[in-house]
Amino acid sequence: MKGKISEVFDSVQGEGLYLGEKQLFVRFFGCNLWCRFCDTKQDAYIEYEPQELLEELKLYGNSHHSISFTGGEPLLQKNFLKEVLKLTRKDGYKHYLETNGTLVPELEDIIDYLDIIAMDLKLPSSTDMVCVWGMHRRFLKVASRKEIFLKTIICASTKESDLKEAIGIIKEINNSAVLILQPNSHERQNKALQEKLLQFKDLCRKERVTACIIEQMHKVIGVK
Ligand code: SF4
Repeated sequence: MKGKISEVFDSVQGEGLYLGEKQLFVRFFGCNLWCRFCDTKQDAYIEYEPQELLEELKLYGNSHHSISFTGGEPLLQKNFLKEVLKLTRKDGYKHYLETNGTLVPELEDIIDYLDIIAMDLKLPSSTDMVCVWGMHRRFLKVASRKEIFLKTIICASTKESDLKEAIGIIKEINNSAVLILQPNSHERQNKALQEKLLQFKDLCRKERVTACIIEQMHKVIGVK
């Protein structure tokens, strides 16, 4: 069985609650969504057998916090991912999954192999896509069996009503999950966006959902 992988590299985590942790990154090729702000390169991939991928990861040594399975959307290649997770678990690696939070049966099938889940919440007024609230609700229910935090991209276009919907899902399903408000990196200098982030953080506080504003720091400090 082969998997399509865009790149394998080591770096520091640039987003979310594990910001600054040294990780190995396996970027899966392909995604099932089409977010307006997406800047993930999807023009090339290398095919790996699970064992080949493990061998490549071993070349980076053993000083990393965890392996970040990222994308694209790793769960799109669930069967390949599962085989890799079995191998890397045997070798003692910790598993961190970055996911867009929509592929529920795929998550159910591999969740026992995961340690940490960084789940996106896709707000339609940020992404320019249809709502995926139902999928997010079901995904969060399953993902909450493990350590989880949530990330959502905030753009100048993001509507408060979308954030309220997201807050409702968090309160209903996992009130202790931390929500990262992540400004759209293409609009970093936008004053209106900066004000919106503070308003949104305040709204989260009033609704008793823990939220942090954290930029994509790898872009700010210029690492991969
Ligand atoms: S889910 Fe991630 S990889 Fe997929 S289109 Fe959206 S931003 Fe890009």
